[in-house]
Amino acid sequence: MKDLYGREITYLRLSVTELCNLRCAYCMPSGGVCKRAHEEMLTEDEMIAAIECAAEIGVRKVRITGGEPLVKKNILSICERAAKVSGIEEVCLTTNGTLLAPLAAPLRAAGVRRINISMDTLDAEKYARITRGGRLDDALAGLDAALSAGFDRVKVNAVLLGGVNDDEIASLAALTQKYPVDVRFIELMPMSGTAKDAGSYLPCDTVLQKLPDAVEQENDGGVARLYRLPNAQGCVGLISPRSAHFCAWCNRLRVTADGHLKPCLHAPDLLCIKGCTKEEMRERFERAVFAKPRCHGELTEEVPSEAGRSMNRIGG
Ligand code: SAM
Ligand code: SF4
Repeated sequence: MKDLYGREITYLRLSVTELCNLRCAYCMPSGGVCKRAHEEMLTEDEMIAAIECAAEIGVRKVRITGGEPLVKKNILSICERAAKVSGIEEVCLTTNGTLLAPLAAPLRAAGVRRINISMDTLDAEKYARITRGGRLDDALAGLDAALSAGFDRVKVNAVLLGGVNDDEIASLAALTQKYPVDVRFIELMPMSGTAKDAGSYLPCDTVLQKLPDAVEQENDGGVARLYRLPNAQGCVGLISPRSAHFCAWCNRLRVTADGHLKPCLHAPDLLCIKGCTKEEMRERFERAVFAKPRCHGELTEEVPSEAGRSMNRIGG
């Protein structure tokens, strides 16, 4: 289905939980999040119904996200059922990787085709600081397991944090030379309720200054600008929600773990599918497509995202 600006909506990001075993400073409030009542959150059946409605209006790709999707006890069942929904061609998952080692092969067997692992640093102390207590070794074990599990593609996502990981851009990008992975750098988005001192905003062009040998590649239809280092097995991607909006190519809808349908990451809550019948849900998906804005506003520290939620409550 096309939105009012002619964009074909083919991609759903489904958040399966707001909870997480980490508390990244730029994503979560320092006190973490309160566990909400069961009744307020989508059930597994409602999540699958949402994917079915999305497929009926033309969605072909689903990304499972969170919070941390791997803290969800029924994650394998959700993925397995999502992969079987008629019309869905690809189920992908985004994780911090720390719980992935024992789950990588079962997720692949459940039908997950691609996996993204968030890792902003390769320094264990810094990792613990950024994630407020996480262990880098756990995330690296997750990456290792993902590389052995036979996914179509493994990507590493790093948020650019000025004064924190700008000295590691070259070493993070070098993962593409060491492993068959893509490494994507993402500009920091100011979200409500998160720490102001997580790191300063760095535009993606900083990455290019640090990678003089990177050669631009043809776009693959995604939102990242792509580059390749000499002898690399994967690409370096730049995702620039602040310095270069990619709204004109945005093909996504989002569903939060409590059932809010977000036509744009930065849109305030508008439509809720919790407790809906299948017909009502389908109608709300259509309304969400028509409510998709042409683009989001400028994101600055003074005027942060209008989403009104921290990122763990949206799904990234
Ligand atoms: N827990 C999983 C993870 O960390 O990959 C999935 C959920 S997390 C909200 C999804 C993505 O959003 C991660 O890659 C994370 O780095 C990114 N993210 C979170 N807060 C962000 C922010 N303020 N600006 C840019 N990206 C952010
Ligand atoms: Fe958790 Fe992912 Fe947010 Fe970090 S970015 S706090 S791992 S949800």
